[in-house]
Amino acid sequence: MANQDCIFCKIVAGEIPSDKVFQDEWVTAFRDINPLAPTHILIIPNNHLTSTNDLTPYHAAMAGRMLTVVPELAAKEGIVESGYRLIMNTGPDGNQVVMHMHLHLLGGHRMKHAMG
Ligand code: 5GP
Ligand code: ZN
Repeated sequence: MANQDCIFCKIVAGEIPSDKVFQDEWVTAFRDINPLAPTHILIIPNNHLTSTNDLTPYHAAMAGRMLTVVPELAAKEGIVESGYRLIMNTGPDGNQVVMHMHLHLLGGHRMKHAMG
């Protein structure tokens, strides 16, 4: 179920280019076009969800995969021991810009402890 106007749906489908690092039946992971850290990967559901507000129990397997792929990606990036941050932005006050749910995986250098 792709949203025709959604840039991340087009990335899942391969209709616009991206630096994909992982894809399975549930999720796709690719490098952020404007990285804020040496590792900046976006993990997204293959099917269009606008944000965490769209999640229901039906999405449990996909949502679980969004998290369980993290240690696999972190291992490939060499940041398991050094650590990383996971961020999901929802809605205007959450600074969500792209309206296809996504999890940011950021690592490769020490980040400020405070949120923000
Ligand atoms: P948000 O603020 O919505 O949580 O973050 C959206 C992220 O998507 C931003 O970090 C931005 O750099 C990234 N982004 C936006 N458009 C594209 C694109 O076409 N390709 C890739 N790889 N990343 C994108
Ligand atoms: Zn989408």
